[in-house]
Amino acid sequence: MKALIVIDYTVDFVNGKLPCGDPAIAIENRVAALVTEFVQRGDEVVMVVDVHDEHDPYHPETNLFPPHNIRGTSGRDLYGKVMHVYETSKAQIYWMDKTRYSAFCGTDLDLRLRSRGITEVHLVGVCTDICVLHTAVEAYNLGYKIVVHEDAVATFNGQAHEWALQHFRNSLGASIVRQGVATV
Ligand code: ZN
Repeated sequence: MKALIVIDYTVDFVNGKLPCGDPAIAIENRVAALVTEFVQRGDEVVMVVDVHDEHDPYHPETNLFPPHNIRGTSGRDLYGKVMHVYETSKAQIYWMDKTRYSAFCGTDLDLRLRSRGITEVHLVGVCTDICVLHTAVEAYNLGYKIVVHEDAVATFNGQAHEWALQHFRNSLGASIVRQGVATV
């Protein structure tokens, strides 16, 4: 069994307060298509979304990044067509707030996947070298098979993107796929 984990594909991370910009806009159609594909097959889809409180003195990201994905703001809305597919398939998509880079940190993601017999996680979203990377590392440590959709992840920096893809493949044993087909 497999699950699609959509990481932080929100307005703030695409073109809002902490934007990846063009590379993130460029994956909109592919992320939306993968969500639709997984929903139609009846496979698990989890929408994992960063949440912060503004100027939280206890949060380590407060000193690292501009405020982003603040609770109750439209910056936490899913971006573009992904918002649309979420709205139309809400009953089959699980929304999960997270407060750290990894989707597994402080959430019930691992329990949810294990209880459904899911052993393979498909990772998409942003940022390739931050939240996708940290989620992949934790998935690796927890023993999941990892598939990263190269055409559905993006980040601020092209070099960091390429480095992260190499790391997924060479150090985490992930399959890197484009249009669902392995790239190596
Ligand atoms: Zn954050």
